[in-house]
Amino acid sequence: MTTAINVEGIDKTYGTHKALRHIEFTINKGEIVTLIGPSGSGKSTLLRHLIGLTKADRQSTGKIEVLGHVLQRQGHLVAQGRDYRRRSGYIFQQFNLVGRLSVMTNVLIGHLGAMPRWRSLAGRFTKKEQKLALKAMERVGIESLANQRANTLSGGQMQRVAIARALVQDAEVIFADEPIASLDPRSAREVMEILQRINHEDGRTVVITLHQVDVARCYCRRAIALKEGGLYYDGPIEGLTDILLQGLYENSGLDEINSSSFSQSRSTTAHTTN
Ligand code: ADP
Ligand code: MG
Repeated sequence: MTTAINVEGIDKTYGTHKALRHIEFTINKGEIVTLIGPSGSGKSTLLRHLIGLTKADRQSTGKIEVLGHVLQRQGHLVAQGRDYRRRSGYIFQQFNLVGRLSVMTNVLIGHLGAMPRWRSLAGRFTKKEQKLALKAMERVGIESLANQRANTLSGGQMQRVAIARALVQDAEVIFADEPIASLDPRSAREVMEILQRINHEDGRTVVITLHQVDVARCYCRRAIALKEGGLYYDGPIEGLTDILLQGLYENSGLDEINSSSFSQSRSTTAHTTN
């Protein structure tokens, strides 16, 4: 098996608050993994480290490698080429689309890293690129929205645009931070199913932060659980037993364990998990 992500000894301190405490794990290519834990446990902070948006403590000995390249070491980002960055795709809770541009253009933005700079600045795309974008939109079921402005879409549609963008980019690793937090239960299910499908069918590595265990159980095989910035559990999702979950969520709102609206809406549809 080939390693997609390798994290060694990552610490992160904000003021006096330890947001991450010596985090270590390895994720292989083709895995679908959830980073789980109560609100404030450090999930987003960890994901931002994996993307290179946040640097670990300088005095730490930590290192993060993604797709065989060192991304950061001892709190310093290591310079990366455009080509390497293009191999990771990001999906955020707040969609990150350009609202006044069409769905098609937003999807094609995923291709910018691969285009000559003058052409990307001019916003021109070839027929071949447009075909690629249409194919990605078809895969996530938004091809009929190609010419609509992004700011007229529903949250679920916007999130599918973000996924289509990662597909056009041909990202080998896809990072998603709470991708369903702003969505209604049905859209949440659809977005999770799409993420699961692109993992399954394309073998893309997918890392998703979630705070709802029931959602994680349905779509992710492995869980990395954080509690107060420390690694609390790393293993198969079914190994997160009720007792472990109680320990994970003690002192936090227990309603986070299950998002009941999601569970209820799921139970009305037949669904198989992997
Ligand atoms: P989660 O995503 O699990 O809800 P976060 O990673 O957002 O948790 O936050 C973990 C902890 O780090 C929280 O206590 C949060 O307040 C703190 N934190 C996160 N980002 C910053 C920041 N930029 N400055 C100060 N504290 C931060
Ligand atoms: Mg978060």
